[in-house]
Amino acid sequence: MEDDIAKVIISSGEIAERVSAMADEMVQTYGQPDEGITIVTVLAGSLVFLSDLIRRLPLRMRIALVTASSYAGKATTAGKIHLESTTLPDLRNRNVLIVDDIVETGGTLRLVQAAVRRLCPRRIRTAVLLRKTTKAPSDVPIDFVGFDIGDDFVVGYGLDYDGLYRNLPFIAVLKPEMYNAESAL
Ligand code: 5GP
Ligand code: MG
Repeated sequence: MEDDIAKVIISSGEIAERVSAMADEMVQTYGQPDEGITIVTVLAGSLVFLSDLIRRLPLRMRIALVTASSYAGKATTAGKIHLESTTLPDLRNRNVLIVDDIVETGGTLRLVQAAVRRLCPRRIRTAVLLRKTTKAPSDVPIDFVGFDIGDDFVVGYGLDYDGLYRNLPFIAVLKPEMYNAESAL
């Protein structure tokens, strides 16, 4: 697997440090008094980020999961986005924190924010580990950002290409030939 990587762009140590700092910001925002939050996480890319983040958040919380997909199969450019699971819990008057792995065009988060908004929460905030600055839209508010990155398609720390590489502990760019490789299956 490591042979497929062209370049590590964010190391596991840098991620750990930044996730800690993001958790501290969130504790500042929600902690005194402990208002209680409901985290709405966008699967599957956010699962590693979520699991590291929540263990650094000493807050009362519930966790809800939604699945969104815009990159079908091997695509590295987004197609039409849909929410595949919209079984959100009762969010009326709740403090909602939406957690996603990466924002690019903002299409996914726009959809998730709208779905949450329909359930009349008290307040919605959004956190992403990565933001592609060149495309980040101004109409999708993001309150907590881990790292601003360039335009490259990245994998690792939860992010996949064709379902693979989510377990890499760092964020990396694959060798160009990997994005075009025919599946061995
Ligand atoms: P957006 O809807 O903001 O254009 O794209 C967000 C979604 O596209 C992310 O939640 C993620 O699933 C996927 N995505 C965008 N850029 C990348 C990338 O560089 N690598 C991977 N693995 N997924 C990406
Ligand atoms: Mg995603």
